[in-house]
Amino acid sequence: MNLSFDNTQNAFAYKSTADLKRAKFLISTIQSPIMVTLATKITPILLKLGLPIHGLLRSTVFKQFVGGETLEESARVAKLLSSYGVQVILDYGVEAKEGESNFDNVTEHIIEAIDFAATQSNIPFISVKLTGVASHILLENLNDAPRLRSGIHDSESDNAAWQRVRERMYAICDVAQEKGVGILIDAEETWIQDPIDRLAIELMGIYNKEKVIVYNTYQLYRNDRFSFLQLSHRIAKEQGFLLGAKLVRGAYMEKERARAQQMNYPSPIHVDKASTDKDFDAAAKYCIENLDSISLLLASHNEQSNIQIANEMARLNLSNDFKKVHFSQLYGMGDHITFNMAVKGYNVSKYLPFGPICEVIPYLMRRAEENSSVNGQTNKELVMINTELARRKAK
Ligand SMILES: Cc1cc2nc3c(=O)[nH]c(=O)nc-3n(C[C@H](O)[C@H](O)[C@H](O)COP(=O)(O)OP(=O)(O)OC[C@H]3O[C@@H](n4cnc5c(N)ncnc54)[C@H](O)[C@@H]3O)c2cc1C
Repeated sequence: MNLSFDNTQNAFAYKSTADLKRAKFLISTIQSPIMVTLATKITPILLKLGLPIHGLLRSTVFKQFVGGETLEESARVAKLLSSYGVQVILDYGVEAKEGESNFDNVTEHIIEAIDFAATQSNIPFISVKLTGVASHILLENLNDAPRLRSGIHDSESDNAAWQRVRERMYAICDVAQEKGVGILIDAEETWIQDPIDRLAIELMGIYNKEKVIVYNTYQLYRNDRFSFLQLSHRIAKEQGFLLGAKLVRGAYMEKERARAQQMNYPSPIHVDKASTDKDFDAAAKYCIENLDSISLLLASHNEQSNIQIANEMARLNLSNDFKKVHFSQLYGMGDHITFNMAVKGYNVSKYLPFGPICEVIPYLMRRAEENSSVNGQTNKELVMINTELARRKAK
């Protein structure tokens, strides 16, 4: 197995030199925590005040991390990626807007995205955030109330609201199943995750009988998630369905730790990075060893984690394009992994959000914050970009 991520020509073949220079500028900027704090505080205010910064956002951070404002715009990016053997996870990037009509609206956009994905050769998955179709407060209530969780509902309005959330998700999964498109249910904060997990398991029980349509997400920065993955697998086997497992390390570490400290409960996050890495790699290995009943989507920019699974596939004599193993990185990050894996024939995709600029700002802010807290990774991206720019200049 000779997978390497060092070939910058493969990694950035799809980017013009101008694109690369913009990426270099952006990545250098978001390496600075001060710049990120400033940008994340000021941008929403400027947008609220109606100042004309759309053009600036569109040509910088939006272009780097987002497919476009509409499905049609994202289709152009998806087509470009397809010409390099890279697939797409499409994400309607609008987050956490409260209100039943907003939730119905998001549901419609997701169904539209599924219909669109079914017409494209390289969009096998749509990602769904439950906070796009359910009230945050409702999810917190359900997370906190054991009686609600066990099905004995003592709040009629919560009960009715949850029923509507279930109906939205069933509508999404019905279309996904009919069109053969996978649904990836995102993992969110621990204080709303329990009802998300319960619904994900319920949906997998219905839609994953013959092939995996629904995937739940496991955040391995949580110290209880490797055992939860194994529990989910046991439930799947007992109830006769296939498990869809999307593995991530997790995006809300600082927020989780701060809340635990503030509210004086033990942090649900591993004490250090090494423990997160250990669980992530063990969970990935567990999935690879149980591919008879699990489909794995490894969502990571960590080179070692991707190499480990590629090595495991080789050890088990699985072809690189074995359909139950899929790799993914965010659009705008980790190109050296995505494009070098695509060249070797692995199933690998970019997670591509789309939506109106104002609405995807929270997503962009998270990306910026995440980048500034994973300096090792962004350093590597910068080195790769500089190498490629130098290579092009020397030609
Ligand atoms: C396709 C895709 C889908 C995603 N979906 C989700 C999702 O549904 N939910 C979600 O939460 N995230 C999601 N993410 C984001 C993902 O969690 C982050 O991109 C990921 O955590 C970054 O880690 P990494 O595996 O790329 O590798 P690395 O850069 O090796 O790891 C960085 C991560 O390690 C963890 N970490 C860092 N320092 C410490 C420490 N001191 N102690 C403990 N842990 C530490 C944190 O999770 C941090 O983000 C998704 C990412 C991708 C690519």
